Amino acid sequence: MRRRPAARFGVVDPATGKVFDEAPDQGATELDAAVDRARLAWPGWRADPAARAAALRAAAGVVEAAGDELAQLLTREQGKPLAESAAEVARTAARLRYFADLAPRTRRISDGRPVHSEVRWRSLGPVAAIVPWNFPLQLAAAKFAPALAAGNTVVLKPSPCTPLATRRLGALLDRALPAGVLTVVTGREPLGARLAGHPGIRHVTFTGSVATGRAVAAAAADSLARVTLELGGNDAAVLLDDVDVDRIADRLFWAAFRNCGQVCVAVKRVYAPARRHAEVVEALAGRARAVAVGAGLDPGTQLGPVNNAAQLARVERLTRRALADGARAAAGGHRLDRPGYFFAPTVLTDVPPDSPVVTGEQFGPVLPVLPYRDLDEAVDAANNTGYGLGGSVWGTDLDRAEAVAERLDCGTAWINQHAEMSLAQPFAGVKDSGVGVAGGPWGLYGNLRPFVVHRPRDAGC
Ligand code: NAD
Repeated sequence: MRRRPAARFGVVDPATGKVFDEAPDQGATELDAAVDRARLAWPGWRADPAARAAALRAAAGVVEAAGDELAQLLTREQGKPLAESAAEVARTAARLRYFADLAPRTRRISDGRPVHSEVRWRSLGPVAAIVPWNFPLQLAAAKFAPALAAGNTVVLKPSPCTPLATRRLGALLDRALPAGVLTVVTGREPLGARLAGHPGIRHVTFTGSVATGRAVAAAAADSLARVTLELGGNDAAVLLDDVDVDRIADRLFWAAFRNCGQVCVAVKRVYAPARRHAEVVEALAGRARAVAVGAGLDPGTQLGPVNNAAQLARVERLTRRALADGARAAAGGHRLDRPGYFFAPTVLTDVPPDSPVVTGEQFGPVLPVLPYRDLDEAVDAANNTGYGLGGSVWGTDLDRAEAVAERLDCGTAWINQHAEMSLAQPFAGVKDSGVGVAGGPWGLYGNLRPFVVHRPRDAGC
């Protein structure tokens, strides 16, 4: 009997809008096999922390050695400029190295009684990592590096928009790590839903939209697996009246437009003092008009296409709605007339504050700039959102800027920059932006459970 060929799905190059490769469309049987591999690999992997650390360091080297190949694949399927893909691969390796060297701390608790408790840390078991298409490798590593370092095994599912670089990474790491420790599965829905609800999974760590995050939490409820959710954002940048626009404009522009605005912690709204508003709009719009938009593989490209057709349609819909409601495009405002998913870098002014491009997450190369009259009004507007990922305050007097940053209702507040991050810091959203903490030691402990040994001080007790 002839075997049926395995199902596959097409992967689109966003710079052309055409399918250029394909990936396996895996179903329940392949998923069960991946979770089973993870279950079988767990006892060996959790047993020897020193071997684990060495394997993760070696894995980092493997990723770096394949840097060019991974970066090319990433740009092809994701769209970002090649230099940004190379930086993403480097960050992937850096995460492996950082977590390889991080170990949980045993803590002894004594409270005066003739006993003490020792808090040790145990791994959880097979972890499901589900990630979106904007930073496929880096966000995957942000999940699998701490999970593996903690002694868990991982089943990783990339977005069907960007499965290829992750699959290649999985194949490389499958050789660098013991069998079954990290398995990549690819496919269209319901693969993610099945993985989130799989009874063999003990922790579901998810990055993506709020709506899917809710579905993931619901799917994991049956097995009572731990859930970590890193969800969307609608970060505001509040400019103070002493801001030096010339000095900060490049940084502010790229904080909004890097990766074509498809960054969870991108600046998604700018609030400028009314009397500085026109100056800010022009500084940003001038940069938007000058930026080199093109295919990520073309040298010189600064901004690639939007990743996929659905996202492009969303960006276009939000922009059209804002324009229909009275906004004006100081730059862009439309798709580019060329093949692929290109949208002109867009700066919007005169946007009604209740326009969906302000109240929701555009996740694209479109930035509304809103005027404010007094600072309380700006802080209220910045906080008036269901999201709470990041925010920033920009001004010359750093103490004053910091006092305003303190008032932002979010997980990370920056001053005169946005989205800069250290591997050693925690990353956590409030409100709809997430549940749980990633990054630094907090990310490691998020993949561990406390195990307490309670013993008397001496045998006579
Ligand atoms: P998405 O929620 O549509 O998809 C994310 C992942 O979940 C993909 O792998 C997808 O295939 C999978 N998925 C889809 N339906 C599922 C289901 N029912 N159960 C389980 N998995 C399912 O998000 P996206 O469009 O790929 O990415 C964009 C979103 O991600 C934005 O909202 C952005 O802000 C967010 N994001 C957040 C962070 C963060 O760290 N907070 C980082 C990057 C992106």
